[in-house]
Amino acid sequence: MKRMRIVDCLKSDKSLESCTVAGWVRTKRESKENIFIEINDGSCLTNVQVVVGFGDSCYDIARQLHTGASVFITGKLLPSPAAGQKWELKPDKLIVYGDADSESYPLQKKRHSFEFLREIAHLRPRTNTMGAVLRIRNQVSYAIHTFFQQKGFLYVHTPIITTSDCEGAGEMFQVTTLDLLHLPVQDGLIDYSHDFFGAKAALTVSGQLEGELLALAMGDIYTFGPTFRAENSNTTRHLSEFWMVEPEMAFATLDDDCSLAEEFLKFIFTWVIDRCHEDMVFFDERIKPGILHNLESIITSSFEIVTYTDAIAQLKQASEPFEYAVEWGIDLQTEHERWLTEKYYKKPIIVIDYPHEIKAFYMKQNDDNKTVKAMDVLVPGVGEIIGGSEREDRYDVLIQRMQAMGLNPDDYWWYLDTRRYGSAPHAGFGLGFERAIQFITGMQNIRDVIPFPRTPGSAKF
Ligand code: ATP
Ligand code: MN
Repeated sequence: MKRMRIVDCLKSDKSLESCTVAGWVRTKRESKENIFIEINDGSCLTNVQVVVGFGDSCYDIARQLHTGASVFITGKLLPSPAAGQKWELKPDKLIVYGDADSESYPLQKKRHSFEFLREIAHLRPRTNTMGAVLRIRNQVSYAIHTFFQQKGFLYVHTPIITTSDCEGAGEMFQVTTLDLLHLPVQDGLIDYSHDFFGAKAALTVSGQLEGELLALAMGDIYTFGPTFRAENSNTTRHLSEFWMVEPEMAFATLDDDCSLAEEFLKFIFTWVIDRCHEDMVFFDERIKPGILHNLESIITSSFEIVTYTDAIAQLKQASEPFEYAVEWGIDLQTEHERWLTEKYYKKPIIVIDYPHEIKAFYMKQNDDNKTVKAMDVLVPGVGEIIGGSEREDRYDVLIQRMQAMGLNPDDYWWYLDTRRYGSAPHAGFGLGFERAIQFITGMQNIRDVIPFPRTPGSAKF
């Protein structure tokens, strides 16, 4: 069933004698002489307008069509007399594959709230907003691979099931085949030697540790895959299942890491502006006015690098009444992050050199023995979208940090081996894919930038 995507059809530079499209009816309107049907096939935001005249062979079929029905149409693509559209389709043949009951179809023309649409996520891809989000997700994915491939990074695959509970202690989803009603118990504890992997297993919270192992053999690598966190935070920026991009560079420092992050984000933003113009105009007009200009100005200015210590000093003299008190040593809360990037710097910033107490064990100690070579990229409207660091490459220091943080080095013998044999400076970061999409589109809630969100209490569809 050969058909033309509507996006290609609307881009045509000449009339077409025969053009076949297929899609779903968005709206239907009748005048005295004509029936106007708007068809969308997901390939672009704009619908193609099908005009059926009284007396046309498919007039009777067209009259009975409902919003939501799927249709397959062959006709002539002709210049449209209507304002705002170049082409319209005059059908010779109209097949209805599946009609939609107009009483119960939930996506009638009126505007629906994002909350309501989340309840019907199975049909939500047929809305303008989710359609645009999905096309942007597609292009950003393409941009991510293109960026790293052009730079010679190797795309690697890290496991999704893990038995090392690394930094995510307490916020991991357990994976088990044990019978939950009949657990094998030894000395009051569950005996995981009977479990599928012979050990307690969980879904990964990050591919980083394995990413490091691969970087310390292959050079620059990146992963791009799903990540799972069972944190019970019902925020507009957290999902229980989200996608993360994690590059890791061998023979690299924190400086290299910051430069890579900035270049990477700018590459993605440029890509989206170049390739998703229609969808970006939609977000700019309907979701967050100014978002396009915002992206454009970010591409041409440089990110500000600020130390955690300086950021704390700036926050302390802010007149803003923060919910969480600011003190050197605290983990920056979203309100702090957003004040810094939105109110103080008014552009993306990279905060570096965080206190070691609030960061993971694998981050490289600075000489002050208080801070580590960490970096977080904060952007207006979202806050943190990237978290990264130079990794501790010194065996002894790494062991000390693990012990200080209550981790058992024996559990990480394999990770530590890379520091015993041919250790090298290396650095990397994690970009939350959905946070990036949120930033690009201006969408308020992270649940609306992924087709089927998983959040506490909800994993429907
Ligand atoms: P936050 O403090 O915002 O919860 P984090 O410090 O836990 O984030 P990292 O462990 O540094 O996050 O993970 C790297 C990136 O992954 C973050 O910068 C963010 O973009 C993204 N991310 C982290 N947790 C989530 C989540 N629950 N949902 C969506 N994206 C997330
Ligand atoms: Mn972080």
